Parts: sequence; structure tokens; C-alpha cells
Amino acid sequence: MNIKFDKVSLTYPNGYKALHNINLDIKSGEFVALIGSSGSGKTTLISTVPKIWPISAGNIEIGKHLYVDRNTKGRMLRRIRKNTSIIFQSKNVIPELSVYDNVKAGILKDIPWYRSSYGGIFTKNEKERIMRAIDVMGLLPLVYTKVRYLSGGQQQRVALARAIVTTPEILLADEPVSALDVINAENVLNSIKRINKELGVTVIVNLHHIDLAIKYADRIIGMNDGRIVVDTKPKDITPAKLKKIYGSEVEDFSSSEIKESLRIAAKNEKYWSTVEKNEQEYSILRYKEVNKYIKRQVNKRHNERIDNLKEKHKDDSEAYLAAKNKSQNKKDKELQFYDLKWEERKLREKAFSKELDWQKAKQRKLETEKKLNEKLIKAQKKKDKEKIAKIKSIQKDKEPKLNSKIDLRKQKLEEANNAILNNKKEIETIRGLR
Ligand code: ADP
Ligand code: MG
Repeated sequence: MNIKFDKVSLTYPNGYKALHNINLDIKSGEFVALIGSSGSGKTTLISTVPKIWPISAGNIEIGKHLYVDRNTKGRMLRRIRKNTSIIFQSKNVIPELSVYDNVKAGILKDIPWYRSSYGGIFTKNEKERIMRAIDVMGLLPLVYTKVRYLSGGQQQRVALARAIVTTPEILLADEPVSALDVINAENVLNSIKRINKELGVTVIVNLHHIDLAIKYADRIIGMNDGRIVVDTKPKDITPAKLKKIYGSEVEDFSSSEIKESLRIAAKNEKYWSTVEKNEQEYSILRYKEVNKYIKRQVNKRHNERIDNLKEKHKDDSEAYLAAKNKSQNKKDKELQFYDLKWEERKLREKAFSKELDWQKAKQRKLETEKKLNEKLIKAQKKKDKEKIAKIKSIQKDKEPKLNSKIDLRKQKLEEANNAILNNKKEIETIRGLR
């Protein structure tokens, strides 16, 4: 969705004017980096889109049908917020919950209250969306891990997974990497780039570091004192433009550093352009297509190899046949390998749902026990001997049933986990043979 700011101004309740007459047209699918010194108005600007702060004048058009001004509320505002996800520098995740539960929380805002209470009742499709968002951010192996055990970069990727689980059209990120070390920062920006390129989400990200903006953005907007002072493509950035944004703060950001960032940006661009080209075939949200795509590639490589071999062994049909067999063998192993990887994905999802079943059974037992205990205590207080005896017999009766259900579910979970282990062994064997 495109976002068009038209003469937007914002004055905070204390009278401070933080945005002055902002005019800005952001195209659908664009990756915009908003840069500027602390206090220049970056956070304020992005928070006007989902109306975290209401603007004082002007308006913002979002897509064709959505519209923000100082009075926007009700259904219009809900629709805007539904289409927009926002993440912050830190504290986007709940450390005591697992990756899955954190991402699940993102979907809650999308479903009716009667399903969202009690921790949420989710449809199969929603569970799949949660798993996919986790997979897209490369967090599948950590799906059950409590978020507090993850690195800062991984935590931000959990936040991103939660942000995209509702399939938003717009992602706003307020200094999402400023609390991270360099490697984690690049990692998170790469993930944001994937969301932008592969899902076509329009991105505005506030960044403190100009080099990151050059490396990842399609367009750099520089702010100073609540105004837009620079609007440029990364390749056209100059020390003079930076001076407009930062004043004398960056005098030591020399043209050679800009050049180095641009060199990396060009390399990135090359990489992403191949992703774009393959987008139809290689979208991260389409497992089946991905699998088919990989197989087509394997077959294509094989056919190319055969052509080369034909040429190479023109005069020696025996050598050609031997080489052809070898190549065929290699291709078969490769296809088998990808089939197993595909299987692995399905097995993991299955094990995941078995784990949930097991947890639920344990929960049910606890709840039943609690209820019966409460009744028992009440009966004991009343000294109602008949009732006490009755409750005790119910307890005796129920316990083995609940236990056997837990055992059964646990057994199913173990079976599912064993299937994963077997699949893993097969993958290792094939790897060895390749
Ligand atoms: P940035 O994100 O670029 O650091 P901000 O958008 O947070 O800048 O802030 C822009 C200006 O608005 C700053 O001078 C800041 O002090 C002021 N400001 C931010 N929030 C408020 C507020 N709630 N009330 C009054 N002034 C604020
Ligand atoms: Mg800020």
C-alpha cells in the first residue's frame, strides 16, 4: 500500500511542534529509511500512520481507501491498524513465553473476542500462519524455546514474525536494530528486507546509522527538526546531504565510507534482484511451490550436465554412458534429499500439534483436580460425609482416566519426535552419499 502524507503537522499537547508541513509520497512496496539525529521527529512521523499520536493538521492517505486525519476513528482506524504492523527498538516480545506463543499473540488482534479469550482458540489455518511466520524468520528450530533464552537479534526476529503473522501491507519499525550489535543488526535488517521483497510489504524503518540505510533502503529520507531536509536514493547520498541532516555531527563520515556502503548496497541489490526475478516461483510463503521450484532446478542442472557430457564424450560412447549414470545417480540422490527435507517440515508441524495436545491434556487434569479439590474442601467444611465420599470416589475414578489420556498423548508426541529423528538419520545418510 502506498502512503501519502499531505501537509502533515503535529503539535504535542505541551505545545511542542514536532512535525512541520510534511509532504511525502511513499510508493507501495518501497523500503524507506528515515534517518536523523535524536529528536528530529522520526518516531513521531511513523506513529502518525496508525494514529498512535493524532496529527494536528493535514492528512495521510493509505492505499486507495484508507485515510487518516485528526478525527479518524472507529472502523476506519481499525482497518488502518489491521493493515499496519509496528515494532520498536526493544521490548516487543514477552520473555516468559515461547516463540510460538509470542507470534500467536500477533493474531489475537485479528480474531473475535470469543476465540481470543482463554489463550485463544485457533483454526488450523491460523496455526499454519503462525508456523509459517516463524519459519519465514528462520526460527523454526526455536519454536518451543522461551524467548528470554534468545539473542537480541533473534528476539527482534520473533517480533517481526509476530508483525507479519497478520499479513500487513505496511511495516513500520522504530529503530529496530539500535539495541543490537553489528551482526545481529544486519541479520534483522536482512529479515526486514525479505519481508519487503518477498511479501511486497511497504516498509518505513527509522535508523540511526546511515551506513545501514544505504545498504538496505530503496530511498533515504532525512529529517531535521521536524522537517524533511533530504529525500534521495542511496546512490546519490553525499557528505553535503548528510550535513543537512545531522549538522556537524557526522563530519567524519567521509565519502570513502559512503562508497564502501554503496559497494555493499550494490552487492545486496544484485542478490535481491535475483530474488525478485524468482519471486513467482520462490515465494517464502509457498512451501509446495518452493519444493517444485527446487526440483525443477535439480532437473535443469542435470539436463545441462548431460548436454555437456554428450559434447565431452562425443567419440567415446562407453565413457558417456558411465558419466551419464553417475550424473543420474547424483540427481536421484538430490531429489531424494529434498523430498526428505519436505517431509521433515511436515513432521515438525505434526510434532508441534502433538505437543500442544499433550500440554492440553496435562492442563485438563490440573483443572479437573482443582475443581474437585475445591468441592471436597467445601464438603469437608460442611461435614457432609455422603458428599465427601462421593467426591473421593469421583477422584479415584477420574485420575486413571486423565492419566491414561496424558500418557496416550505423550506417546503420540514421542512417536512424532521419533519420526523426526528417523527422517534426520535418513537425511544424514543421503548427505553422506551426495
Ligand atoms: P526521534 O524519534 O527522531 O528521536 P521524536 O519523534 O521522538 O524524535 O521526537 C521529536 C521531538 O518531539 C523531540 O524534540 C521530542 O522531545 C518531542 N517529543 C516527543 N514526544 C513528545 C511528547 N509526548 N510530548 C512532547 N514532546 C515530545
Ligand atoms: Mg525515536
